Amino acid sequence: MNSQKLFLFDFDGVIVDGMNEYWHSSLLAFEKFINSPNILIDQNLYKQVSNTFIEMRPWVKYGWEMLIIVHQIIQREDPLNTKNKINFLNKYHRNCQRVLLENSWVAEDLQKCLDKARKYQIDNDFDNWIKLHHPFYEVIDFIEKIKKDNIKTGIITTKGKIFAGKILEKLNIFPELIFGYESGTKVEITSALSRKYEIMGFIEDRRNTLIDIKQNPLTNNIPCYLADWGYLKNIDRINLPFEIKLLKLKNLENILAI
Ligand SMILES: [Mg+2]
Repeated sequence: MNSQKLFLFDFDGVIVDGMNEYWHSSLLAFEKFINSPNILIDQNLYKQVSNTFIEMRPWVKYGWEMLIIVHQIIQREDPLNTKNKINFLNKYHRNCQRVLLENSWVAEDLQKCLDKARKYQIDNDFDNWIKLHHPFYEVIDFIEKIKKDNIKTGIITTKGKIFAGKILEKLNIFPELIFGYESGTKVEITSALSRKYEIMGFIEDRRNTLIDIKQNPLTNNIPCYLADWGYLKNIDRINLPFEIKLLKLKNLENILAI
């Protein structure tokens, strides 16, 4: 039992930097699929990712939250900016819920609109959509290395499975397993996997996700690594509990010491 080895990876912030894509697809979702009287989509907005958005990205767990942030950044009245973002972030979840309510939006519908914006680009402008993602080549090399050592690769992402799959395919990576938000929480997915596989490690850039894994009796023996190169708050790096290790990109190849 448990003889097949498996290594797990988060996707966004671990395998690719998709910052340009998050900004682009969120704007496109508003341009094409979501009505809001408070914003106007000027084509110039696409040219450069807002610094406020970059600064707020570490708080995001699900894709639809990016739409909330983008909406508040580009709204005409009292837009979020580098200076006033702190109030929003102090009560991040409550504020996301407030913006949903104020606009009579439902999170699942926003997520569908983000997915539709991605699908639209895949259908109409695939190469340019791919170019909005920047791979971390050290991670790609690591995935190739473990494959040679007969360790299977699993990707667990909070984006739609199909979108992660398209990007990975373009990067010439074909993981044995890919799970998107459709498959449940990361704890649920890893719990199920731990019954079947010997899990050699999990690299993720969301500290709370790793803490959840470490607090679950079914998954608490999985070696957990916080990706230093991902979307981290500064405070995330400090006093990591439960033997979660902060992993630097340059140390990646040493973690299995094989
Ligand atoms: Mg991530």
